[in-house]
Amino acid sequence: MSDEANPFESLQSQIDDAAAYLDIGDDVIERLKHPERVLETNLTIERDDGDLERFEAFRSQFNGDRGPYKGGIRYHPQVSRDEVKALSGWMTYKTAIVDIPLGGGKGGIVIDPDDYSEAELERLTRSFAKELRPLIGEDRDVPAPDVNTGQREMNWIKDTYETLENTTEPGVITGKALDSGGSEGRVEATGRSTVIAAREAFDYLDKDLEGATVAVQGYGNAGWTAAKLIDEMGATVVAASDSSGGIYNADGFDPVAAKEHKNETGSVVGFAGSEAELTNDDVLTLDVDLLIPAALENAIDADLAEAVEADVISEAANGPLTPAADEVLEGKDVFVVPDILANAGGVTVSYFEWVQNRQRFYWDEERVNEELEAIIVDAFDALVETYERHDLENPRTAAYVVAIQRVADAFEEAGSWP
Ligand code: GLU
Repeated sequence: MSDEANPFESLQSQIDDAAAYLDIGDDVIERLKHPERVLETNLTIERDDGDLERFEAFRSQFNGDRGPYKGGIRYHPQVSRDEVKALSGWMTYKTAIVDIPLGGGKGGIVIDPDDYSEAELERLTRSFAKELRPLIGEDRDVPAPDVNTGQREMNWIKDTYETLENTTEPGVITGKALDSGGSEGRVEATGRSTVIAAREAFDYLDKDLEGATVAVQGYGNAGWTAAKLIDEMGATVVAASDSSGGIYNADGFDPVAAKEHKNETGSVVGFAGSEAELTNDDVLTLDVDLLIPAALENAIDADLAEAVEADVISEAANGPLTPAADEVLEGKDVFVVPDILANAGGVTVSYFEWVQNRQRFYWDEERVNEELEAIIVDAFDALVETYERHDLENPRTAAYVVAIQRVADAFEEAGSWP
């Protein structure tokens, strides 16, 4: 992984690339390149041994022109103010490209959660929820899971908020467990949209997904779900990796068995169905039909991009390619389905969860998946229409052209408030 690119600068350069094709004033574009506000807070909690420890935490509310700020909360040592700002911007354009009535936000705590007990994580999460309380709400800002957070953390945040507000408001947060007001299909949603988007790209390029070879970098929730679903669609998953390394089998392996191995041992490495061990970089540069980066930002820099041999990339992670890598891949005719569309299934089903919470009426999984499918296919069609109309080289630019226009329209239609 390279740390050469600051993700916030990457976001801004992606916006600039798209702005060249848009008839929107520089003053409006300038607004759309910066968050509306960022909360920076220090959380001090008691460790199990009685000592106190301080943690830095952030929540960036990037844009609320199209609806309540929306986006996850991650727990990771790499979290920073700029990272959270970038991720909140990507959320803004993600909710816009899939055309759901939400804005963009993101939060994070600088922590390696593996080093803390469940009780410590609960105290920390509740402490963050207390700080977030004045900012969040089902009509204000609706957090969700992200890297290293899931149903457990969302349930704690919901409970803290509802207790302090003396109300029931499950729509204040999404990605909850089913019994706490979560939605069917939410856990699989990010991986599901990643493979729907890949399938659409293969169709568009007249390539056959049946028998296509696939490499998946990152075997967390999004990565492993994408591996399982693409295998069910008839593709062959030949490689996967996590932070400990990678596995490979030219004939393919069972993604579910690889996940079971990871559950038991903590990593995909050592999986019996693998015939060779690879590094993370090896997995990213394999000669496969489809590459799914499903880990963190900046996984592929310009140097690594030179070595990428995949024909199609569907970005399950947020920001896995640096702008320089994007340019290299454009020159090599690699079709990249951008993160803001490919991984938008997560926030789309979060939107369904929020709708169900507000209506206190719950859908079955079939309905969730059908509605998700329709939204991702429509977004892909909008991308392709713009990609062809402007004769663009990079599908990411097409996605931003569509998304920025939608946000700018909402901003301009609202008029100005002195
Ligand atoms: N963290 C996910 C993302 O990056 C989901 C956000 C949400 O559901 O609000 O898209």
